[in-house]
Amino acid sequence: IFQLSFPLNFLGTIYREMRQNLLDMETLVTLVSANQPLKDSPTAKPLTVSSTNGGGSIRFDKINFGYHPDRLIFRDFSLEIPAGKRVAIVGPSGCGKSTIFRLLFRFYNPSAGTISINGQDIHQVTLDSLRQAIGIVPQDTPLFHSTVLHNIRYGRLTATDEEVVEAAKKASVHESIMRLPEKYETKVGERGLMISGGEKQRLAVARVLLKDPEILFFDEATSALDAHTESELLKSINASLTTPSHIGDNGEKTPTKTRTSVFIAHRLRTVIEADLIIVMKEGKVVEQGTHEELLKVGGLYWSMWVEQSLGGGGLGGSVEGVDEI
Ligand code: ATP
Repeated sequence: IFQLSFPLNFLGTIYREMRQNLLDMETLVTLVSANQPLKDSPTAKPLTVSSTNGGGSIRFDKINFGYHPDRLIFRDFSLEIPAGKRVAIVGPSGCGKSTIFRLLFRFYNPSAGTISINGQDIHQVTLDSLRQAIGIVPQDTPLFHSTVLHNIRYGRLTATDEEVVEAAKKASVHESIMRLPEKYETKVGERGLMISGGEKQRLAVARVLLKDPEILFFDEATSALDAHTESELLKSINASLTTPSHIGDNGEKTPTKTRTSVFIAHRLRTVIEADLIIVMKEGKVVEQGTHEELLKVGGLYWSMWVEQSLGGGGLGGSVEGVDEI
């Protein structure tokens, strides 16, 4: 029996390894194909966007788009995200919030209309320069079967170990990493150590902060965190968005650098301090303004705010805004 069971066990191990490798391959192929689905037009130029002159402004102009041609998500959809501002996009599930960055990153093409960054049509610039300028923390970030260090460094392959650690500190995940069995050398992802949803989200934030693009998108990037950790992380992200003017090594003054950031959020308490809140419903922008302005309007944002405060939907703190109305 032993003579037979040993090779069978061995074959079983090989089979599981192969199956796992195929799964890893699938993740990789998805990532790679998501990264390179399109060819540049022969006249494409690199996108020029500099966060020293206010970061990237984003404009969607009369966009039509549907994942299936017979079901349009956007019909004549227009949107403006000002350069260098912290913008929040809120609205009921399925109204098209995540579709915005999928189109901006050119994962999909609109069937009509123009999308531009700082006045440059994103379909007339090189894909590489476009994706270099934008960083996304999606709802569920894939982690590679590799060390924590590598997983963060994926944001910028040339980053030093110190820069990786600094990004992890900004993303409030350094201390959690130091508690892992092999700290930054711990293997995570497929077959690796299971880490919590909140830790995964913070690793994804660290990855994008390390990349340091001019435009950052956070899609529900803090949804798995408790209120305290979430507020600490948001404070830290906010601080990372602006680099104050300073005197560089060459003695020259470097101007203030401000990135454009877009937060897609369900929990409205996280968007109160945004410079601009864009409220969407069924593929349309229905309201926009600051938190106070939108509460005064008494429309969709107001009713979402009331619903979340009454339903204990994670607003936390006081609901003063509602009492004022
Ligand atoms: P949520 O708040 O739940 O994340 P959302 O506002 O971000 O939602 P989107 O993800 O932009 O919404 O989706 C808009 C619509 O498009 C939804 O009706 C969704 O079901 C549909 N949709 C999204 N992705 C796809 C896809 N890959 N194929 C087909 N339909 C899709």
